[in-house]
Amino acid sequence: MIDVSDYRKYEALFRHFEAFSAIPHGSGNTSAIADFFVEFARARGLEYYRDGANNVVIRKPATKGYEDRPAVIFQGHLDMVAEKKTGAQIDMEREGLSLYRDGDFLRARDTTLGGDDGVALAYAMAVLDGEVEAHPDFEAVFTSDEEIGLLGAVALSPDAVKGRLLINIDSDEEGVFTVGCAGGVRSDISLPLEYEEADKSKKAYRVRLYGFKGGHSGVEIDKGRANAVKVLGELFNMSATEDWRIATMSGGNADNAIPRECSAVVIAGEDFPEKFRTVLERRKAMFAVMPDLPHTELRKMDKTGRTLRDIEPSCDIEIEEVALPARMLTDGSHSRLISLLILLPSGVIAMSRALPDLVETSLNLGILRVGERAEVSFSVRSAVGAEKKKLCARLSEIAAGLGAEYGERGEYPAWEYRESSHLRDVMVDVYEKMYAKKPKVVTIHAGLECGIFTEKLPDIDCVSIGPDNFDIHTTEERLSIPSFVRVWEYLKEVLRNI
Ligand SMILES: [Zn+2]
Repeated sequence: MIDVSDYRKYEALFRHFEAFSAIPHGSGNTSAIADFFVEFARARGLEYYRDGANNVVIRKPATKGYEDRPAVIFQGHLDMVAEKKTGAQIDMEREGLSLYRDGDFLRARDTTLGGDDGVALAYAMAVLDGEVEAHPDFEAVFTSDEEIGLLGAVALSPDAVKGRLLINIDSDEEGVFTVGCAGGVRSDISLPLEYEEADKSKKAYRVRLYGFKGGHSGVEIDKGRANAVKVLGELFNMSATEDWRIATMSGGNADNAIPRECSAVVIAGEDFPEKFRTVLERRKAMFAVMPDLPHTELRKMDKTGRTLRDIEPSCDIEIEEVALPARMLTDGSHSRLISLLILLPSGVIAMSRALPDLVETSLNLGILRVGERAEVSFSVRSAVGAEKKKLCARLSEIAAGLGAEYGERGEYPAWEYRESSHLRDVMVDVYEKMYAKKPKVVTIHAGLECGIFTEKLPDIDCVSIGPDNFDIHTTEERLSIPSFVRVWEYLKEVLRNI
C-alpha cells in the first residue's frame, strides 16, 4: 500500500488505482481487467454491459434530487502501454504493477504507470462506489485497446452507451480541455520505375542527408521542421541540369514520423560531390531570394525568412564513393521520381478557422522506398472530414499525372469542434468558478476516441480532460498527485452542476 496519509480524504482514489494496477492490462491483454470491472459492478448491484472486445459499461442511477439531470459519462480506456526498463525482472503479461510514491508523483517501479488511462478508471470507480454525494445518472464507459488503434471504441455497439454528455479522461494536462481532434488516413503512392545498365564510365556516390529533428507528424507538424526526404528531392531537382542518375533512394521510417534522414546512391561524374555540395550551400542560405518556388519545404522557410541552417542546425550531408551498382534509373524514371518528390506536398496545409494557432489539415511524407517501384507513404490529418478528402484527392491527382498508383488505408474520423456544447459550457463555467481562471480550450492534431464516439452517436457531446501526467508511454511516466486530486474535486463539481 502506498503511503498517501497526507491525502486521507482521497484514499478511495488511490485504493481503486492500486486495485486495478494489480491486474496486468497491457494493450491486447485486457480480458482480465474487463472481468475485474464486471465483478466490481456485480458486487455493487450495478447494471453493466461487457462485450467480446473487452469493453465494459457500468451504470449507476442518479442520487436523490438529480434524477432529472442529463446523464454523464466518464470514459477512459482499460489498456495501457506496457513498457519496462531494459533488464527489469517483471513479466508485464502476468504480473501487476508495483506502485510507489515519489514525492508529489505516483509511479510504478521499472514500468509505465498506466496513469494513461488509469486516472479515468479510478475516478469512475469512485463515483460507482458511492463516493460522490450529488450526481446525475452516471455511466462509466471503459474501452479496450485504445493504444493499438482505438480498437475497443471501434468495436463498441452504439446501443451500449446511453448518456449523451461524455467526459473523456484521457488527456494529460490539467486545465486544458480538448474539444476536437483531427481524423486521419494513411495514403500510399506507388510509381512504377524502369532501370537500365549503370554507366560504367561514371562513379557511384552515396548521398546521405541526416541530422534533422524529425518528430510526430500530428503534434509537431507545425513546428516548421524540415522533411529530409523532401529536402533531398529538392536538392536533386536543383541539380537537374547535371548529367547523373539515381540508382536507389530511401528515407523515413514511419508515415507518422517526420523523416530525419534520407539517402540515395547516384551515378555521376567525378565532379558530382563538389557540385552537389555547392548546391547544398546555396540552398542553405538562399530561401529569402526565391519567392516563386512551388509549395515545398523551401517555400515554407522562405516565408519566415529563415534558412535551412536556422531550422535544422544539425542537419548535414555526407557524400562518399561506393561500388558501382549494376543498374540505374532510366532518364524518364529518374525525372519522374524527382518530379514526384517535388510535387507531393508535406507539412501544414491549412490552419483552423475556428480556433487560433491550431493546425486544421496537414500531411507528412513519412516513408520513401525505391525498388522496382518508388513507394511513398503519408499520414494525412484534418479536423474537417471534407478537407481530408480534398487533400487525398490532390495526392491522387499528382500520382495519376505521373503514372503512379494511389491507395488509402486505416482511415479514422475527426472529432469536429461543436459550435455549441452544453457540456463544454458547464465545464468551462465550473472551472472558472473554482480556479478563477479560464481553462485552455483546444483541438488537437492527433487522434482520440471521441472521434469514434461522435461518428457513432452524432448527438453526443464530448470534452476531453485529465490531470498532469508526464512522460506517458515511457518508464518515466509519473502522475502528479496534487493534480490528480484537484481534477477529482473538479469532476465532482461538474457532476453537481450539470
Ligand atoms: Zn490514453
